[in-house]
Amino acid sequence: MHSSQNSPTVKHLVLVGGGHSHLAVLKSLGMKPVPGLAITLISRDIKTPYSGSLPAYITGFNDFDSIHIDLRPLAQFAGARIIQEELTSIDFDKKTIEFSSSRPDIEFDIISLNIGSEPDAVKIPGAAEFAIGIKPIDLFIERWEEIYQTVIDGYESKGASFRLAIVGGGPASIEFAFAAQQRISDSLKLRLLEDSPLKLKIVCADQILLKAHNSKVREFIQEELYKRGIEILTDHRVCEFKKSEIFCEDRDSILADAIIFATGASIPSWPIDAGLNESTDGFIEVNKSLQTTSHEYVFATGDAATIKGEPRPKSGVFAVRQGKYLAENLVRYATERPLRNYQPQKHALALINLGNKKAIASRNKLFLHGRSIWSLKNSIDSKFIRKYTELPEMDVPLAINSGLVDKKTEEALKEHAMRCAGCGAKVASNILEEVLQLLPRSNDSKIAGLNSQVEDASIIPLDNGKVLLQSVDLLKAFVNDPWLFAKIASNHCLSDIYAMGSFPHSALAIVGVPFASKKYTKLQLKELMRGCHEVLEENNCELIGGHSAESSDLLFGLCVNGFAEEGQLLSKDGMQDGDILILTKALGTGCLLAADMRFKARHEWIANALQSMSQSNYLAAKCFLAHHANACTDITGFGLAGHLMEMLTDNNIEVELNLSDVPALAGALESLKSGIVSSLHKDNALVSRHVFNQEAFGSEMRYQLIFDPQTSGGLLASVPESAAESCLTQLYEGGYHAAKAIGHVVKRNTEKPAIILR
Ligand SMILES: Cc1cc2nc3c(=O)[nH]c(=O)nc-3n(C[C@H](O)[C@H](O)[C@H](O)COP(=O)(O)OP(=O)(O)OC[C@H]3O[C@@H](n4cnc5c(N)ncnc54)[C@H](O)[C@@H]3O)c2cc1C
Repeated sequence: MHSSQNSPTVKHLVLVGGGHSHLAVLKSLGMKPVPGLAITLISRDIKTPYSGSLPAYITGFNDFDSIHIDLRPLAQFAGARIIQEELTSIDFDKKTIEFSSSRPDIEFDIISLNIGSEPDAVKIPGAAEFAIGIKPIDLFIERWEEIYQTVIDGYESKGASFRLAIVGGGPASIEFAFAAQQRISDSLKLRLLEDSPLKLKIVCADQILLKAHNSKVREFIQEELYKRGIEILTDHRVCEFKKSEIFCEDRDSILADAIIFATGASIPSWPIDAGLNESTDGFIEVNKSLQTTSHEYVFATGDAATIKGEPRPKSGVFAVRQGKYLAENLVRYATERPLRNYQPQKHALALINLGNKKAIASRNKLFLHGRSIWSLKNSIDSKFIRKYTELPEMDVPLAINSGLVDKKTEEALKEHAMRCAGCGAKVASNILEEVLQLLPRSNDSKIAGLNSQVEDASIIPLDNGKVLLQSVDLLKAFVNDPWLFAKIASNHCLSDIYAMGSFPHSALAIVGVPFASKKYTKLQLKELMRGCHEVLEENNCELIGGHSAESSDLLFGLCVNGFAEEGQLLSKDGMQDGDILILTKALGTGCLLAADMRFKARHEWIANALQSMSQSNYLAAKCFLAHHANACTDITGFGLAGHLMEMLTDNNIEVELNLSDVPALAGALESLKSGIVSSLHKDNALVSRHVFNQEAFGSEMRYQLIFDPQTSGGLLASVPESAAESCLTQLYEGGYHAAKAIGHVVKRNTEKPAIILR
């Protein structure tokens, strides 16, 4: 959901499925953005597998990463919001999508389906319980790894063999059979493939294997299977799967220790049930512009679609070819220009991997085989993966008249224009301090104002012996998802109150929404407020008002109120000699979000970081109160070191930090190592002057991590040593699985209070 003041969102394109055609659409939208068009990608898998390379993975030639395309960087490149979800219905007439999670419905103007297919054997009774489909590929890979381990263990421990039946007579079954056999033989260092303990059978309903290929291809494959001891059972139509048994029409049953099916393609019924026209071969019917024949604003490509009057066998080649046309037609449709026709080729080239570093090429009457074909296949496949994983860095245009500043300043401003959002977009603490110093001091000694020790929230004494706590925070969106952003921002804002050992009572929302059409302003606001409401409800906090304004970026924040008994608050001040320092969440959100902005973050890193940021500090606060913490703060924009220094006000103590115990979010150290830091990092690192022995640790990435600004970070508390173990146990039980004791408080030995690294 990209928009800015100069390009108000007016239309919304939703891409469902991360198939081959959508890869081209995302890349094209990243290279040539369409101002005003918001994009959302919804996909079951964010690491989308490239099936052409699956056999190379099975043989062990390729690793997991080299056969997957991570949609996260690609979607970021296109400025698209990413939602990981498997859809099972869409209201195409009302143009809305409902989610199974609490996420609010989304509305679209244009939608494109590139959801692939599943083997049609899923419809055979017993398939789900007793057999394994080759698609979805990721589930298949998991099950294959289990089979692989069982075969190896069985053979090594008792020389056992393993019967594996593969149902389906197309290239997928054959490639898998060759690859599986090769892998087992290589792992067991067997000289001949036919000595393999993996006893393979290919079960096929047709009279011949590879019926869509020419006779030379078929004869070659038949002979190769025979040579490798792989049994072929043609004319066996499977009608039921049972545990370790395949039942075929008019045949004896086949016994197997595991059953895999890689039969012809089919799609689930929901797209047709939802009102799209069905093609004669059972897929979504589209015209040559790739629009469905039922709804002109619904496009469909790849295995899931068939062009009316032009059915073709389902193959990735078509999905890839369609990508270019789809990318163009989606933009043409959005901008009301005539669409282009796609004419599918009559025959597609198939390169079939033989598992032994050889492959065959088959196209109409063409038949070639050998090592060079295998090399050709590898080079085509890896070029395809690289096209969507190696993304160009995009220049950030700086709207400044030439000559106004010198080159160096211009470069510095340009770098700053790439600044991070979230807490990375905070004003540096040194600038803030300098400005606040200039303000006149408050005369009201009862109010903990700017001239007193800075706490996480302001403390306003009330007449009844209670105090009112108030804090305010405002964040710039760091994910292209208003609902998720508001959830994280709300948790972030509540943390100041939790850090003081109190609980939020009520909140006022501050919202900045970029200029958009009325419809999109309303939709963005709806998603923001829904996210905020969910979090406030979970935290027993009432939304009592707020203010919204138009702004260049999407902004969200809360002014939070909490009430507490005077004298019962946790403060930053108060650490005692001997206390244990406990941190509740792992660090690294700053550098990870910076990596995400530069299309360098892996999906699993960001998914994990977003989850950590979405976790409330409510239970952590309760836990620290119950364990009589002596001091507490929340780790946000100034990083662990900066916030820790704020706690070191007592001149007689200092802290020893066990650097290796400081928890890091997955991917954080890798991002820092590759030189990716949040824009606030450099300013935060000025605190290093208070790190006593930094020279000894300066080169360690975990040392850099302590300056990383956090968005919705954890609480850091100073807990009496006697309570620390029980406190940590309770934190784990409360779901803070990264919680860790990271150091302790000691009597001051240095000239000034310092952080001493251990
Ligand atoms: C072992 C094997 C080897 C193959 N080798 C080749 C080959 O060498 N050459 C070739 O041309 N073809 C090959 N194929 C065929 C090829 O896999 C398919 O034709 C191709 O993947 C279809 O691409 P697609 O873009 O339609 O969808 P896919 O690539 O299958 O992508 C579908 C996407 O949609 C997502 N999705 C699915 N359902 C939903 C939902 N309900 N909601 C949200 N997201 C959803 C999935 O997560 C996925 O990201 C092979 C197939 C197999 C099984």
